[in-house]
Amino acid sequence: RIAYVDGRFVPHNAAAIHIEDRSVQFADAVYEVWGVKDGALLDSDGHFTRLERSLGELKIAMPVGREALAEALFELIRRNRLRNGLVYLQVSRGKARRDHAFPGPDVKPCVIATAKRVDFAALVKKAETGIAVKTMPDQRWARCDIKTVSLLANVLAKQAAKETGAQEAWLTDRDGFVTEGSSSNAWIVTPEGALVTRPASNAILNGITRRTLISVAQGRGLTFEERPFTVDEALAAREAFITNASSMLMPVVTIDGQPVGNGHPGSLTTELRTAYQDSAVAAAHK
Ligand code: PLP
Repeated sequence: RIAYVDGRFVPHNAAAIHIEDRSVQFADAVYEVWGVKDGALLDSDGHFTRLERSLGELKIAMPVGREALAEALFELIRRNRLRNGLVYLQVSRGKARRDHAFPGPDVKPCVIATAKRVDFAALVKKAETGIAVKTMPDQRWARCDIKTVSLLANVLAKQAAKETGAQEAWLTDRDGFVTEGSSSNAWIVTPEGALVTRPASNAILNGITRRTLISVAQGRGLTFEERPFTVDEALAAREAFITNASSMLMPVVTIDGQPVGNGHPGSLTTELRTAYQDSAVAAAHK
């Protein structure tokens, strides 16, 4: 495997950043994850746009232009002979002596990227079974709209879910509404057939898969409601699923051990999974 570190391609097991890179001490960095299908970057522009926004919110300079960055990612895909998988990109504020306040303008952002193979057939199989989710209080900070590597609350939630045999955690706000998953957006299909997901705000990461799926759903004339929903509403829903770049759409079949609908992946979820895939692949950047 080959990784990218600040303009250079290096063997993955020798790839390293400095111990005083601010991502290490302060999680002062943002990241993006692209799905890769047949060597192409899925939702490429959406992820670059969100990267620029995340960097802007933290006042980290865009290290190089979008085109140069995309070129580096394609080179990474080529060098890893990656067909299906994920590309991870991280930009930190750079290396500086430890001090909470930003370093001076001479400190340049540090860019790293890795590529990972994903067994697409295994993912399809998982989607045929669906996943279990566990609900728990959302303990994250107030700027979940920024895709930072400060993921400790997400890590703890995912681990707690895993320890109960679930594959994802659904985080709930103080009023009992689901914000999102620990690494995904949360969706339900109401008994009336309406597609529901929480509106984008500081409380969630506005998923690129989420946004693409909204336009796919609207293109198909589906009833779409952008509003918060509670765990009780999700338990009474006909279908539920999550979205993210790594699994696209993944059906949710149980919540806290209780079945959603008939306890099997829903038909609309399955239909949307195919529709999303077709649309993302058609729009992919090669
Ligand atoms: N919400 C959180 C907290 C995430 O970490 C992710 C992605 O990993 C998402 C939502 C989904 O975002 P995307 O569809 O852009 O992958």
